[in-house]
Amino acid sequence: MRSGICVKCQSNRIYVLSSSTSNSRNQPDLRLGMGYTQDSHFLACRDCGYTERYINPERLYLLETYGRSLAEAKAMAARGQMR
Ligand SMILES: [Zn+2]
Repeated sequence: MRSGICVKCQSNRIYVLSSSTSNSRNQPDLRLGMGYTQDSHFLACRDCGYTERYINPERLYLLETYGRSLAEAKAMAARGQMR
């Protein structure tokens, strides 16, 4: 999608949509820190509707704080600690 071509239908009609991070636990959303911020964006195909979501480059550093590495998540799942 970042190349400008839809990975599902090969259309070149790709649009960018900004996305706000929610601070509400009632709204399932990507969550990086507190408050409503523009942490991510979508790339959406005008022809088939397929979308990809990317964290904005300037916010990627927050992953270490609010996320966990895949290796750590797998280890926790193996121990039965993941919800
Ligand atoms: Zn498409």
